[in-house]
Amino acid sequence: MTLSIQPHQPITEGARTFLTGGPKKLLIANEWKDPVGGQHFATNDPASGARLAELAEATSEDADLAIAAARNALSEPAWRDMKPSARGRLLWKIADLIEAHADELAELETLDQGKSWATSRFAEIPASAEQFRYFAGFANKILGQTIPTSIGYHPPGKKVFAYTSREPVGVVAAITPWNSPLLMAAMKLAPALCAGCTVVLKPAEETSLTALRLGELMVEAGLPAGVVNIITGFGSLGAHLTAHKGVDKVAFTGSTEVGRMIVGAAQGNLKKLTLELGGKSPAIVMPDADFDLVLPGVARGIFANSGQVCVAGSRAYVHSSIYDRFVEGLAKEAGKLRLGHGLDKETDLGPLVSTGQAERVAAFITEGRAEGAGIAAGGERLGDDSAFYAPTVVTGVKADMRMMREEIFGPVIAVTPFDDPEEALAYANDTDYGLAASVWTQDLSSAHRLAAGIKAGTVWINCHSYFSPELPKGGHKESGWGYENGAQGLENYLETKTVCAVI
Ligand code: NAP
Ligand code: MG
Repeated sequence: MTLSIQPHQPITEGARTFLTGGPKKLLIANEWKDPVGGQHFATNDPASGARLAELAEATSEDADLAIAAARNALSEPAWRDMKPSARGRLLWKIADLIEAHADELAELETLDQGKSWATSRFAEIPASAEQFRYFAGFANKILGQTIPTSIGYHPPGKKVFAYTSREPVGVVAAITPWNSPLLMAAMKLAPALCAGCTVVLKPAEETSLTALRLGELMVEAGLPAGVVNIITGFGSLGAHLTAHKGVDKVAFTGSTEVGRMIVGAAQGNLKKLTLELGGKSPAIVMPDADFDLVLPGVARGIFANSGQVCVAGSRAYVHSSIYDRFVEGLAKEAGKLRLGHGLDKETDLGPLVSTGQAERVAAFITEGRAEGAGIAAGGERLGDDSAFYAPTVVTGVKADMRMMREEIFGPVIAVTPFDDPEEALAYANDTDYGLAASVWTQDLSSAHRLAAGIKAGTVWINCHSYFSPELPKGGHKESGWGYENGAQGLENYLETKTVCAVI
């Protein structure tokens, strides 16, 4: 089967203006600048292959300028002395502007990344605004403590008075992936600004458009110069940021492979790191699972955003008493999904982010088939040079096969039977990753026992991929370091200073 998609003309006035305004520039100290080297690269619509815009290819010289602007802004009174409540209002204003421009941002996101309009417009763009709202409320609640001490060697007649204060960690390099571009940027910008840090943001080369538009909106919201700088370019630009002495912290979301490189690069000045990395998340389906919940729930858990979700439930372990019925039902769910251009309102699933990513997914399936895996649904790319891949249900995948061990980042789920809960837990934990998992059962005890037994940063019960800024999100094992969201998400952007005085 092939799917041929015609280029889409932008519908919203905002997206049209943004895409027709000439090559995009870099945001440095609130000015839009051409890259020093004068080079550009194209960003495309993965559904049709149409060119959307030319992006500035920043080099290390541009990065140095952006870092210098961020460092300078840290000590400028306009930012350093901004009252916490004013910082909160600024974050709230950014949220308001994201919402006011939600149609346009959703259109840019769908054109650039491929995801469905519903995912962009009703999930990720509103969720990006919510990130800023959540941390807006924290800006005037960042507190130190006064601490009674047991120190006994102070001069007679004196006493010890000690307290802590919280300070911004400094210049943050925020490096984001291509699967949920605006949301991933918002998850770093909102807590960083709440804490009083300054930021150099490098979005993924394939999907930089919404970050650049957000940059315009942040300037409009009144962000002081240099507080957020946005530079577009390739992985080497990210590498330069992560090794740079002028950067105090790296907030990274992306692959475990690049995460490891960042750990190495950051050692020069021992940067603080938060790493949100890859996953191979299991879904355990118990014999009493509610089929009306579990089939659409597991299908959504893997197929949403065409499987390009870090927490995608890519391994289902299903009790053998319901295994056949489950595989048949899940294959039906996969077959119901309509593939097409993300901007067509009928579309459930858009393309993958690029033809290269579709090739990568196809290679996993070819290899799995050769090793004996069976295909219960999908298993095909929709055209030789297409970025579309059919939602795929695979059976008979052995624990040591590459498709069971590595993150595919596509719409592919492997379904395996188990006989008792201990076996299910052993399967679920048989991975280097530890990002997320789901458990499907109507029995409270088995739900919470399984949740306790799974090594993962998030466990969902009777749902998958439920997110909110209030809920900490991070990886155990090789899925990362640190947490985003919630009060813990703010901690990553703050240092503690202890002041101890004899008075
Ligand atoms: P990626 O290849 O690791 O790239 C992520 C970002 O890092 C991009 O901006 C990339 O730039 C940049 N980069 C590449 N090489 C670098 C280097 N040596 N040093 C510093 N930065 C570098 O990941 P991706 O393919 O864009 O995204 C998919 C991955 O992200 C998956 O593994 C997924 O699981 C993970 N992810 C995790 C979470 C989470 O919360 N745990 C959420 C979403 C996605 P270029 O774009 O120019 O290559
Ligand atoms: Mg693109």
